[in-house]
Amino acid sequence: MLNIILFGPPGAGKGTQAEFLVERFNLLHLSTGDLLRSQIEAQTPLGIEAKKFIDRGELVSDELVIGMIEGKLKKCKTQKGFIFDGFPRTVAQAEALDKLMVRCGKKISGFLALEVGNAVLIERLLERGKTSGRSDDADVSIIENRIEVYNVKTAPVMNYYKAQNKFFGIDGVGSIAEIAERLANVVSAF
Ligand code: AMP
Repeated sequence: MLNIILFGPPGAGKGTQAEFLVERFNLLHLSTGDLLRSQIEAQTPLGIEAKKFIDRGELVSDELVIGMIEGKLKKCKTQKGFIFDGFPRTVAQAEALDKLMVRCGKKISGFLALEVGNAVLIERLLERGKTSGRSDDADVSIIENRIEVYNVKTAPVMNYYKAQNKFFGIDGVGSIAEIAERLANVVSAF
């Protein structure tokens, strides 16, 4: 049973690549960004709260995000493997995920970190902003804040998985197909 974390800074290509891995390895996709955006669309209290942070390029609280993932893992014992995309984004979230996986009788198979430099990230996000309808993709200062938040709060998550020998760095620059192949090669060996 594969349970994969797809990690990387904003604009690294996590969403795009998660779709390939879902197909190829028959996984269930859990993207906290997508889940939060559906809550915003449905104008739930959770969505209204989360939007304040998302619009500024800040992280939503650990409590809120962990609660959301916990809900999605309710029937985890009988579900197929998972691909976590955009989660965990803090060390506290990584610790909470480990506990939730224990409760499911599962463990994280591997942590795949897409590596992309800042200039390419900003270029990709601005390009995506033209069509994504995401306000957090449309403004350079918000994008820069997301990258700063990533460096300060999210990048330390890498050390958490390095300490567990689950870390795999993947070059995230190239064609979508090339990057998908790099990821698949690593996952096939899990
Ligand atoms: P994403 O679609 O993964 O780029 O996420 C969009 C935004 O949703 C982020 O900039 C955060 O504001 C929020 N978000 C998504 N996932 C998380 C998470 N695991 N923890 C905190 N905030 C999150």
